[in-house]
Amino acid sequence: MTGSDPRANLYGATLSGLERIVEIEAQPRYRARQIAEWLYRHHAPDIDAMTNLPAPTRVDWNDRYRIATVQHHQAGTSGDGTQKHVWDAFGGDVYETALIPEASRLTLCVSSQAGCRIGCKFCLTARKGLKQSLSAAEILSQYRNLPDRDRVTHIVFMGMGEPLDNADAVIDAVSVLTSDWGYGLSPRRITVSTVGILPELERLLDETDVNVAISLHAARREERLPIVPSENRYPIADIVALLRDRARLALPPFAATGRRRLSFEITMLDGITDRPAQAAAVRDLISGIPSRVNLIPWNPFPGTQFRPSERTAIEAYQALLKRAGIMTTVRESRGQDIGAACGLLAGRRESRVD
Ligand code: SF4
Repeated sequence: MTGSDPRANLYGATLSGLERIVEIEAQPRYRARQIAEWLYRHHAPDIDAMTNLPAPTRVDWNDRYRIATVQHHQAGTSGDGTQKHVWDAFGGDVYETALIPEASRLTLCVSSQAGCRIGCKFCLTARKGLKQSLSAAEILSQYRNLPDRDRVTHIVFMGMGEPLDNADAVIDAVSVLTSDWGYGLSPRRITVSTVGILPELERLLDETDVNVAISLHAARREERLPIVPSENRYPIADIVALLRDRARLALPPFAATGRRRLSFEITMLDGITDRPAQAAAVRDLISGIPSRVNLIPWNPFPGTQFRPSERTAIEAYQALLKRAGIMTTVRESRGQDIGAACGLLAGRRESRVD
């Protein structure tokens, strides 16, 4: 389906959005929940499928509304079982999804934008620049139209784009994913990863119960700024201060509330982020905040000056944090051979491998 259809798209709407529509259409309020269930429980392909709407209403609504989702046009499977799916946004830009099987989980890594404008120096997506922010319908299509949808156990917003640079659509998509009138998934199984766009991070904490992963990479401003340009506007010290305040007030996102998990992500770059003094700075920065650290081995791509960290450096970093009582895991790199690994999603049509 394309963006040229002038009819409003019902897919991706939240319950409150649907309530506004039924009010405009002078329909009873309970219709909004009926429509939500058709959209997200029964996967209705069009308005005619909504058989408990009166027939004249269906005819009338077909003139002004539609149910439009995005279909993936390419898929490839890595030697390690990771799948990459490529989608055409309504506006024609390309975005990608990775599906990562592990022993006891199947994780869907979704994109929130086609491209990204944050410009992290170690990220291939950054080179594309921002093509477009995705609508909630385009974000949710990555789940709805996935052949293995019903086997997905976890969803992470760690694909292309900075989720909080598209906060309205991401928060709507999270609402659809986690509400009883939507897909009904547990918020504990959904993680939004962000460099920390401060006002939108507060919104995410206030308006959702999902897990939050902060792309930390380096604790000291002079070491983070050269690789994460948003540090200039939203310093990591301010981001961590917000999280520490929430911990002090026992507000979400803290594990003690049983409501959500907070993690800090560190991409391991040889000589750039992986030195023992940097591990100590991270330890000091996040000390006392209930959280965990994920160390992410960097996946190389041509034309950068970065090198992946040596295994021994990653293990030494992990050991230092563990000694301080910080739960620290090293993330396994998956899907490298098809460009589906962390930081390698770039919306390349030529990436098909099947
Ligand atoms: S790492 Fe994330 S926020 Fe940074 S440029 Fe890449 S996609 Fe954007």
